[in-house]
Amino acid sequence: MAGEPQADCLFCKIVAGEVPATVVRETETIVAFRDINPQAPTHVLVIPKAHYPDVATLAAAEPQLAADVLREAGEVAHEDKVHGAGYRIVFNTGSGAGQTVFHAHAHLLGGRGLEWPPG
Ligand code: C5P
Repeated sequence: MAGEPQADCLFCKIVAGEVPATVVRETETIVAFRDINPQAPTHVLVIPKAHYPDVATLAAAEPQLAADVLREAGEVAHEDKVHGAGYRIVFNTGSGAGQTVFHAHAHLLGGRGLEWPPG
């Protein structure tokens, strides 16, 4: 069923507490944790607890949950004090765009200058 945990999904295992992560924020619907390979001083992944393979699938199935992910990314930006200088929320979607974990996740990046266009 859509949104159900997947046995072979790394981020579902983080949600279940079976794989360790440095969690910075958790609500009924999302978990936010520091990226294991940070690309900026603040690099936090915000994921829905429900399993959807990418952000477009998530937003189509559960728009409120997609909104939760975005809102909580903004809350983490405030908590990490990167909101003033600016930050970026990125959803890599598809392997050609660099997605390696197929459980929807927002990358919150901040704490340094961020160039545009991204690589
Ligand atoms: O967008 P993409 O799918 O490539 O992002 C996956 C992210 O998950 C990577 O930035 C990777 O460093 C991170 N990761 C993590 N903890 C793990 C495995 C991967 O933070 N245990």
